[in-house]
Amino acid sequence: MVHSTDSKGNFGQMMDCPMLISTIISSAARHHPQCQIVSKSGEGDIHRYSTQDLQLRAKKLAQSLQKLNLQQGSRVATLAWNGYRHLEIYYGVSGSGLVCHTINPRLFSDQIAYIIQHAQDEVVFFDMSFLSLIETLAPLCPSVKYWVCLIHPSHQPQSSLTLLNYEEFIAAENGQYEWPLLDERSASSLCYTSGTTGNPKGALYSHRSTVMHSYATALPDSLCLSAMDIIMPVVPMFHVNAWGLPYSALVVGAQLVFPGSKLDGQSLYELIESEKVTLSAGVPTVWAGVLQHMKTHDLRFTNFKRVLIGGSACPPAMMQTFAQYGVEVIHAWGMTELSPIGTVARLRATDVYKTAVEQEKILQKQGRVIFGVDMKIVDDQHQELPHDGVAFGDLYVRGPWVIDQYYKALDHALVGGWFPTGDVANIDAEGNMQITDRSKDVIKSGGEWISSIDIENIASGHPEVMMAACIAIAHPKWDERPLLVIEKKPNHQLSDQELKAQLLKYFEGKIAKWWTPDDVVFVEKIPLTATGKMQKLKLREQFKDYQLPTI
Ligand code: AMP
Repeated sequence: MVHSTDSKGNFGQMMDCPMLISTIISSAARHHPQCQIVSKSGEGDIHRYSTQDLQLRAKKLAQSLQKLNLQQGSRVATLAWNGYRHLEIYYGVSGSGLVCHTINPRLFSDQIAYIIQHAQDEVVFFDMSFLSLIETLAPLCPSVKYWVCLIHPSHQPQSSLTLLNYEEFIAAENGQYEWPLLDERSASSLCYTSGTTGNPKGALYSHRSTVMHSYATALPDSLCLSAMDIIMPVVPMFHVNAWGLPYSALVVGAQLVFPGSKLDGQSLYELIESEKVTLSAGVPTVWAGVLQHMKTHDLRFTNFKRVLIGGSACPPAMMQTFAQYGVEVIHAWGMTELSPIGTVARLRATDVYKTAVEQEKILQKQGRVIFGVDMKIVDDQHQELPHDGVAFGDLYVRGPWVIDQYYKALDHALVGGWFPTGDVANIDAEGNMQITDRSKDVIKSGGEWISSIDIENIASGHPEVMMAACIAIAHPKWDERPLLVIEKKPNHQLSDQELKAQLLKYFEGKIAKWWTPDDVVFVEKIPLTATGKMQKLKLREQFKDYQLPTI
């Protein structure tokens, strides 16, 4: 590292304030004291308090944790839905110098046990709905010394395990606690990838990476967050820190609304309306449920203005439906290893002169990098490919909130200083990136790649299609050909044969003819991963012996 100093060897003369997660909460409590945090419990009742209450309880938690004599950097885990106690753990654990390890409860229990043991979690905070999971996990997780139930003591159930109660755990403390001045590069939080192949791998975030990600994602050309917003993260707090919203919302002084465990269309719609939510965030499958509920009951939004969609490609038809309801879709791309946000689809001044269709096409892509992240696409020899919107290759990224190394891995995760994302993309001359596939999902037909995402996006535009997955099927002549797997909407009218005929026609003029799927099959439910993505690996296994019709 080169240090630039003046002739007397002085560095710049600005205060050296480390970027710490505790500064987010102390600033919010001090400068946005009226800012509300609203949480819906599993039973449906609503809890409200202010950022000051949040900080007081987070400090009490920090005091209680201190008494457990954990080392700085020890891992303290959560198995919990989005709610105020989970938020207190985010701040109380990281703020006091421990590592907040959020675990995805939708993973298989042996994967969760593996994660807990790999991380050597010493304390696990859990929501009541995961009690039986905890009872299964406890014998497999000797590292855990304390299991703490996130519920009012009067509702805590009997268990064969020795459980602590969160409210009792923090009750004895007075909140007179100074957040420690940590090195900003200290580890703050830990999140494991969903691990569709092999064991899950941990991304260990730092205070610095988290605060920088919060600044960058709040910018106008990112999520454009402000104190005028009421933000409801539907994306779980166990999935890459709810895309950073529990931090970035407090950075700008926005209100937070947490939906708890009920993530069905009706519950989310009702909470958006009753709490006057202006912005929300989640994967496309969640929003499909909300839109279906609204259509069935002929409903409208009142205050809801923007929805951040990522995790999987947002189908253009979903964007159009949201637009009809007066809601702007912000399409973003990222991953666990990127804290998670890397790119956001936004227009720029020169796009104003483009046609509405051209503008829509830009907004349907995965977007431009936000400042801090750099990206490139490369060929099989890691040679950079041009940004011409045509060439596509492996997407590589780098930046201060991009992983350098997986947790406890022996070697770096980088190739020549860049992180290979495992996604395949093109980048146009204006810097708009478009994911065409996950590299393991690409379909290679006659040596040429077919974008499964393009095909899925078109098929999802059909009014009777709930979800569409396009997978590769082995083919004697072309190596692989696309098969389209469809989950129909619950109230569908067409027969399988009718819908198949319409879908095959639907592709005409929209994609090259040879991209058209060779066949369409129907399934009751498309399997989803623990983070709500289509499980194409499972579909490929299910259809591995499928005989495509000879065309
Ligand atoms: P995760 O680490 O579970 O958040 O998954 C990250 C992966 O999700 C990325 O590498 C992409 O394959 C996929 N992904 C995330 N956002 C998008 C998006 N907007 N469009 C397409 N794929 C996405």
